[in-house]
Amino acid sequence: MVKQTIQIFARVKPPVRKHQQGIYSIDEDEKLIPSLEIILPRDLADGFVNNKRESYKFKFQRIFDQDANQETVFENIAKPVAGSVLAGYNGTIFAYGQTGSGKTFTITGGAERYSDRGIIPRTLSYIFEQLQKDSSKIYTTHISYLEIYNECGYDLLDPRHEASSLEDLPKVTILEDPDQNIHLKNLTLHQATTEEEALNLLFLGDTNRMIAETPMNQASTRSHCIFTIHLSSKEPGSATVRHAKLHLVDLAGSERVAKTGVGGHLLTEAKYINLSLHYLEQVIIALSEKHRSHIPYRNSMMTSVLRDSLGGNCMTTMIATLSLEKRNLDESISTCRFAQRVALIKNEAVLNEEINPRLVIKRLQKEIQELKDELAMVTGEQRTEALTEAELLQLEKLITSFLEDQDSDSRLEVGADMRKVHHCFHHLKKLLNDKKILENNTVSSESKDQDCQEPLKEEEYRKLRDILKQRDNEINILVNMLKKEKKKAQEALHLAGMDRREFRQSQSPPFRLGNPEEGQRMRLSSAPSQAQDFSILGKRSSLLHKKIGMREEMSLGCQEAFEIFKRDHADSVTIDDNKQILKQRFSEAKALGESINEARSKIGHLKEEITQRHIQQVALGISENMAVPLMPDQQEEKLRSQLEEEKRRYKTMFTRLKALKVEIEHLQLLMDKAKVKLQKEFEVWWAEEATNLQVNSPAVNSLDHTKPFLQTSDSQHERSQLLSNKSDVNARKILPSPCPSPHSQKQSSTSTPLEDSIPKRPVSSIPLTGDSQTDSDIIAFIKARQSILQKQCLGSN
Ligand code: ADP
Ligand code: MG
Repeated sequence: MVKQTIQIFARVKPPVRKHQQGIYSIDEDEKLIPSLEIILPRDLADGFVNNKRESYKFKFQRIFDQDANQETVFENIAKPVAGSVLAGYNGTIFAYGQTGSGKTFTITGGAERYSDRGIIPRTLSYIFEQLQKDSSKIYTTHISYLEIYNECGYDLLDPRHEASSLEDLPKVTILEDPDQNIHLKNLTLHQATTEEEALNLLFLGDTNRMIAETPMNQASTRSHCIFTIHLSSKEPGSATVRHAKLHLVDLAGSERVAKTGVGGHLLTEAKYINLSLHYLEQVIIALSEKHRSHIPYRNSMMTSVLRDSLGGNCMTTMIATLSLEKRNLDESISTCRFAQRVALIKNEAVLNEEINPRLVIKRLQKEIQELKDELAMVTGEQRTEALTEAELLQLEKLITSFLEDQDSDSRLEVGADMRKVHHCFHHLKKLLNDKKILENNTVSSESKDQDCQEPLKEEEYRKLRDILKQRDNEINILVNMLKKEKKKAQEALHLAGMDRREFRQSQSPPFRLGNPEEGQRMRLSSAPSQAQDFSILGKRSSLLHKKIGMREEMSLGCQEAFEIFKRDHADSVTIDDNKQILKQRFSEAKALGESINEARSKIGHLKEEITQRHIQQVALGISENMAVPLMPDQQEEKLRSQLEEEKRRYKTMFTRLKALKVEIEHLQLLMDKAKVKLQKEFEVWWAEEATNLQVNSPAVNSLDHTKPFLQTSDSQHERSQLLSNKSDVNARKILPSPCPSPHSQKQSSTSTPLEDSIPKRPVSSIPLTGDSQTDSDIIAFIKARQSILQKQCLGSN
């Protein structure tokens, strides 16, 4: 058992605005526990806190300042936890802080750069790397991804996510067994055998989370997400299985309703927006107070799910994420205060071992049989019926294995059945007699043999054997030489043929050297067509593909509008940047693939040369009647060191290529995610524009708008033209608000009649119905509106 208090760390996010100095300081004296001091500016301190304190000091295990990168955070926080999970203990890492303070960035990672990947992908990478190294156990890994929003649980890996809205999905519910263990109904566990599969699940869950989110439910700031790695391990042949869970938790934003400051509220009075965070705080308070018998875990789903992580069987770590800007100081102080309470909680982690019930049943069955037999013996119950054929055969088998067993303590277990005991004795007697007869026969024949032969002297025998061996070697070498000569002659005759063969050889799949499995997985070739085809590098999740493929279902006009939307969207820069990086990585991988192939063939040549040299040496020895030289000559030494060098180079390049592969996959997933996000924002904007149009124009109200994305026929062309003429400028004017709030909808619906007759949206935003007649109506209507507008403009001038 490992007793440990919850470890607390702080991470300060780089400021969005220019650096505000003097707000906080970090004291990291090596001998002392690091502390973070938050200094309140005088103006704030006055109305801010009742006692007008100007500075607050909080202790943490370690504080990561703005410049700490993701790698450092992983190494210091997550790696030790992952290590104990590999050893069989439960682990939890949760990020707590206000919205925008970097919880998601820390737990999952940034959506832009590969280097920004957070704790989850790095932990997965680390765990799978360790599993690969350890061949002493059999490991199984499962992944689950739970979202808790408004006290309801949702399975982020549920395939129905793509078709349904959050509210329509089956809810994950909590079940408690008689031992008070928590089980989650409707939460699926997905087996992941590789890092790649696990990463796909992470991205799938994140994409589902993004899709389900609407401006109304704001899932990302109001929900808790729990990514869990379930690891079980067992030694081959053992009945004991170890289970460990690692929860990686991105909590909802911890901001409170009642902002302190102007109203002079006390910090402690402010209430969480999120009810379950309020219950989390209650649990933490109860746990940190001594002699509290009741801990209110059951009040909320989140505290129920994380019950073990809080004061239970788990090694738990909290990361307090802080956005230390002037306007966030109150929230930052709350976060730090919360962390101080959390640090008082003691957990007791134990190894979770379980015995395989099937093996236990087998053992118990055997025990029952033995007891029955014993009982029969004690009660004197006689068995009269003869043993069956099968029973006799079974007994003989038992005797054979008993006799073969080298263990002197082994026993012949036949139970307390006297019929069996007697049969064993009979059988053993028979075996013994048979053996005696056999021995007599062999002894007599051996002695006869010896009589007619001169005994061989040991030394002479060894000498003869050595000579024989030497001759054998010589013959082999000469045969090889002969073959070689013959081959040379053939090669001279068929030079052209050999060239072709060599060419084919250079095209053969590389990476055979070393680990053949890796070679299989990373079949990158120097041939350009294959090098470009990286599909083998990652089977990206089908959902991501489907989401990106949605574009093909849009009408042409809609696609065009999407193109413009995309061009003006901030994320397109990220996508383009990543595309560039991806391109670079591809070409680097391609170049590496080529160099690896070169190294491979060089290694082959060197090996060949060494063998040649060796044969030459031996042949020389034979022709000059000298013994085979024991030490390799200088030339051979040189070749060998070259070979070693080449192998090292090969290994380095191979490792780099492996890392590149992971990076490329990650970048592809990031880009997919960004694309899905962009598309989703476009859809929201498009739908919003359609609604606005309906609200604003009674003529269109009567039209059917239920199929806005379907392909249209002849009206398509007309609409595309309108788009290219008008939308360019207008679209961008509207674009800054891709996810308009309900508030903005309301405003537009209360516009005046004159405003109403002026089209405020780009023509591009008009949804087509798929029905060409209706579409022509819409377009005619727009044209009419445009001419009214033009007339009005002319009139007013
Ligand atoms: P939260 O999940 O707490 O609401 P996010 O993780 O979404 O906050 O962070 C908000 C923004 O700040 C994101 O754009 C994120 O990329 C950025 N960010 C957060 N922490 C860091 C950091 N340590 N370094 C760089 N950018 C960060
Ligand atoms: Mg977040």
